[in-house]
Amino acid sequence: RRVEDKLYQNRYLVDPGRPHISVRKHLFPSQNLIALTQVCPAKCYQLNDRRQVIIVSDGCLECGTCNVLCGPDGDIKWTYPQGGFGVLFKFG
Ligand code: SF4
Repeated sequence: RRVEDKLYQNRYLVDPGRPHISVRKHLFPSQNLIALTQVCPAKCYQLNDRRQVIIVSDGCLECGTCNVLCGPDGDIKWTYPQGGFGVLFKFG
């Protein structure tokens, strides 16, 4: 079974207007920041038309990979969603 099929079973509750991850403002992204567009399993990071990295954190799996690469005092600001929001894993 493909991992995408399993990810599809998760549910994500969006906390409107309160994204739990943000990318710090930058003119040119660092190598690590660019890497997030490849390594995030939920494909939350993308390049915009000015070649800056943006995030849409809906669907984030809270795996922490981006925080290891670019946090806590690096290119992103990462916190867990507040209680009740975020990913709801389905096991089994
Ligand atoms: Fe992607 Fe994981 Fe970072 Fe969420 S915590 S944005 S799933 S790398």
